[in-house]
Amino acid sequence: MSVNIDTLTAAQIAAGVRAGEFTAADVARAALDAIAQREPEVQALLQVTPDLALEAAEHIDAMRAAGADLPPLAGVPFVIKDNMNLAGTRTTCASRMLENYESPYTATCVQRMLDAGCVPVAKANMDEFAFGSSTESSAFHPTNNPWDLARVPGGSSGGSAAAVAAGMAPLALGSDTGGSIRQPAALCGVVGMKPTYGMVSRYGVVAFGSSLDQVGPFGRTVEDVALALDVLTAGGRDPFDGTSQDAATSFAASLEADMAGKRIGVIPAFMEADGLAPEVKSAVEQAARVLEAQGAELVEVDLPHLDAAIAAYYVIGPAEAFSNLARFDGVRYGYQEPACSNLAEQSSRSRAHGFGTEAKRRQMLGAYLLSSGVYERYYRAAQKARTLITEDYRCAFERVDAILMPASPTVAFRHGELSDPTQMYLSDMFTISLNIAGNCGISVPMGAGADSGMPVAAQLVSAAFNDTTLLQVARALERGYAEAASAPGCTVAPGFAGKGGELA
Ligand code: GLN
Repeated sequence: MSVNIDTLTAAQIAAGVRAGEFTAADVARAALDAIAQREPEVQALLQVTPDLALEAAEHIDAMRAAGADLPPLAGVPFVIKDNMNLAGTRTTCASRMLENYESPYTATCVQRMLDAGCVPVAKANMDEFAFGSSTESSAFHPTNNPWDLARVPGGSSGGSAAAVAAGMAPLALGSDTGGSIRQPAALCGVVGMKPTYGMVSRYGVVAFGSSLDQVGPFGRTVEDVALALDVLTAGGRDPFDGTSQDAATSFAASLEADMAGKRIGVIPAFMEADGLAPEVKSAVEQAARVLEAQGAELVEVDLPHLDAAIAAYYVIGPAEAFSNLARFDGVRYGYQEPACSNLAEQSSRSRAHGFGTEAKRRQMLGAYLLSSGVYERYYRAAQKARTLITEDYRCAFERVDAILMPASPTVAFRHGELSDPTQMYLSDMFTISLNIAGNCGISVPMGAGADSGMPVAAQLVSAAFNDTTLLQVARALERGYAEAASAPGCTVAPGFAGKGGELA
């Protein structure tokens, strides 16, 4: 039976499989067909996994035939960023360094999705080792934005975002070190969440900046993202990740909440920021009105040290990346340069050939920043800024339940448009501070921008471990926006939710 993978949400697919409206194998085939049809244009993926998908789907169908209880997301296809290990696939990090690296085991986050009955259909393209905001630094090929193939999908989890936006799968996993889930979600018109640092295990995810990295879900609806987060946190703390923590709640079950009495922070200075596109600004203003109409109170807050977030990130991030990527030494992992006369030569030549430009730039920066004499000046200052930024958020969350701000300052840019790395770094001006502070954030689509016709989004931010409130406010925004968009004489752009899969 044919399944309309473009419009069904993960929740609807799981319900349909459970009710016997279609089989998990029907759904898996629909996802694989959608990939076969759209992937040549979108180029979101690095490896399609039909055998793993059909095997997982047939297992679900056999369970159902045997009358067994089905797990919560039984039969839901998902796409995995290629920095996450899945046994039976390569994990390349979109780098020549790991081009032929076979996953030795499965990452906890991926395993939890599998345990919940999700069906792995593909590994997604990304910026090399997650350095970037456009997916252009992939060593293999760039990914195109499904809404306009001449534009980027954002990054670094651009393949995951584009796959969901193009209707290849209703769910995808990404990782966010400075914005890599929320920024591509915004640029592709899907929901993308960075949970609180520690909520989702990093075990089996190739590290970029260990104190910043966080795994999170992409979906077309807030409910699907909440369902995925339930699964990612099920079973609580992962003993293989010392920073992971228990999440004490079911996010999807507590999603619908009254906004009356909720206080939403707004930051006037952010709305006047240099580089904020007028169409993105109006989307965020629109989001404020939608939340207010639902009964929330808007409260002005100040985050005075956030100006330092990008500078602090480009010290802490490269410093940690330099340490983490030292393991790719051309001997133990990945690419090995042939015909070298000694280990030192093998290591330096393998690294020279295995890493791309941005990966080298980050590691050289990290090496410099951690060198003696320099360390005191930059690394220590960045850690001080980190404390001040975290404290700013803590004070703000004494007064408000969530803060509303842009996710990306602009809509998706064209391929090659941001060739200067420091320009690219500004793509994350609104997302990076959350990774520095460790709290949670989500990008919610707000239709199409008036100037470009491309997706625009609003970002919501909440305190660490207040992911339940974050999702409730995001759901209220989605609900209110959809109602406003369908009201007679509406003044808001129609939502993108129904357009998944319709290519430009
Ligand atoms: N764009 C940011 C960077 O290049 C963030 C990347 C990420 O979150 N992985 O570092």
